[in-house]
Amino acid sequence: MMTNYAIFDLDDTLLNLHVPLIHTLNERTGLSKCPKSIKTFTIEEDYGISQETFFRWAIESNILERGVIHDGALELFNTLKTQGTRIAIITARAWHPRARAITEEWLNCNGLVPDELHIVHMHENKNHSTGHMKCVRLAVDDREHHVHHFSKLTANAFLYRQGWNVNATHPHYIDNLMQLNNSINIGEI
Ligand SMILES: [Mg+2]
Repeated sequence: MMTNYAIFDLDDTLLNLHVPLIHTLNERTGLSKCPKSIKTFTIEEDYGISQETFFRWAIESNILERGVIHDGALELFNTLKTQGTRIAIITARAWHPRARAITEEWLNCNGLVPDELHIVHMHENKNHSTGHMKCVRLAVDDREHHVHHFSKLTANAFLYRQGWNVNATHPHYIDNLMQLNNSINIGEI
């Protein structure tokens, strides 16, 4: 039997990164942007800073360590594992020099243990990490272009609804991980 895969993005899909990130950027710049009002999430433009500055601040402020696990993530991982689905996280965190170590530690601390962890570059196509996955059961990401690629691998490619993707043309949204876990439990996915 072919291995079934579930593919997850990490930042703002399995965890909330944008709230601690925006707090940090507000502190550093003196601006007072509200996380709920972030519609494009082009940080450099929103805050008038270079990408280099953004990355430096993010590293200095331990942003990756401060992500907050989304409700339902643990239950979702347990359901998928019970059903024999292999879990792959593909995250574009390669901008951070210690991305793998920090990510592995965060996952362990939060009890999320994927079967595979792929760390890719920010503008890299995530499909470069999926070549060995012959059977993909579902995929979730908060970025439309990644979901667009995943939709070539599975009919169950979902956008995790966030302020910056509400105008996406991709029709398959999920609003939270509990909802996804329920759909899997009742055999909809
Ligand atoms: Mg993301």
